[in-house]
Amino acid sequence: MLTIKDKNFVPFIDQNTLKNRIVQLAEQINQDYQNKEPMLVVVLNGAFIFAAELMTHLTIPCQVTFIRVNSYQKTTSTGVVREILGLSESLAGQDVILIEDIIDTGLTIQQVSQHLMEQKPASLEIATMLFKPEALQVEVSIKYVGFEIQNQFVVGYGLDYDGFGRNTKEILVLA
Ligand code: 5GP
Repeated sequence: MLTIKDKNFVPFIDQNTLKNRIVQLAEQINQDYQNKEPMLVVVLNGAFIFAAELMTHLTIPCQVTFIRVNSYQKTTSTGVVREILGLSESLAGQDVILIEDIIDTGLTIQQVSQHLMEQKPASLEIATMLFKPEALQVEVSIKYVGFEIQNQFVVGYGLDYDGFGRNTKEILVLA
C-alpha cells in the first residue's frame, strides 16, 4: 500500500504485467513503422517512464521530443485552454506518435493532436499506457492502448497524485 497525503493506494497493475504489455506495444509499433522513422512526442510529466520503457524496445530508427500541456480556465468563457509548450522541432512531413500516460475525458489529447496536426505531419497516431473508455467525452482515435481501465484514479509509474507517487514500478489505484 502507498499513502499519499492521507489517501491510500493499493496495487493494481504489477510490474511484470506492465512491462510485458509495453513490450507488446513496442513490437506492434516496430511492425507498423517498418521503413519509417517516427518522431515520438511525449506529453510530460506523466508519460516519461512509459515512454522511456517503450522506446528501449523499439528497434526502428526513431527520435523523441517532449511537450508539456498547461491547462487553465479562460476568463472570458468557460472553456479550458490547453497551451502546448516545448515543441521546438518541426513535425511537417514526419510520422508522429503522440505518447500519453492516461486518457480520461480525452480533451487533452484531442487538443494536443489538433495542435500538432497544424504542422502537417505525414501521420499522427496516439499511444497511451492507460485508457478509461467510460470517461471519454470526445471522439479520438487511439491506436495503441496499454490497458483499458475503469473510471478509477490511479498513480505510479509516472502518474502522480498532487505531484507525488510517480516513482513506483507498478500502478496503484485509490483504495
Ligand atoms: P483528459 O484530458 O483525458 O481528461 O486527462 C488526461 C490527463 O489527466 C492525464 O494526462 C493525467 O495527467 C490526468 N489524469 C486523468 N486520469 C488520471 C488518473 O487516474 N490518475 C492520474 N494520476 N492522472 C490522471
